[in-house]
Amino acid sequence: MARYIDADKVADYIASLDKNDNGKIANVTINVDDFIADVQEVRHGKWVEVETEYDIGNSAIYECSLCGRKIGCDRYPTKRVAGLDYPIAVTVEELYPYCHCGAKMDEEVE
Ligand SMILES: [Zn+2]
Repeated sequence: MARYIDADKVADYIASLDKNDNGKIANVTINVDDFIADVQEVRHGKWVEVETEYDIGNSAIYECSLCGRKIGCDRYPTKRVAGLDYPIAVTVEELYPYCHCGAKMDEEVE
C-alpha cells in the first residue's frame, strides 16, 4: 500500500530548521517516517444497474462494483437546485457519490 507524505509537516519542519546568512539550510538528516500522512487510499467504484425480474417502474437497482451493496434509485434521477422551480437531471453517482464501503463512485462506466 502506498504511503503518503504530509506536506504541512514537511513545511513546518523546514521552517523550524536553522538557516545560514544566505537563508540556506545546512546539511540535515531527515527520516521520511516522521512525515507520513494519516490517509486512507481512495478506492474507486461505480454503480452498476442490476437486472431484476420485477417491474419496478421508473426505479432501478444499482450495485456497488466493489462490495456488491445494492441501492434503489430512480432510473432517471433528478435533484432540486436552489433558484430553479424544476428538478434537473443528475447521475446516480451525483446522488450517491460514495458507497458505504468507502468507495468513491467515479470509476468510468463502460
Ligand atoms: Zn461498496
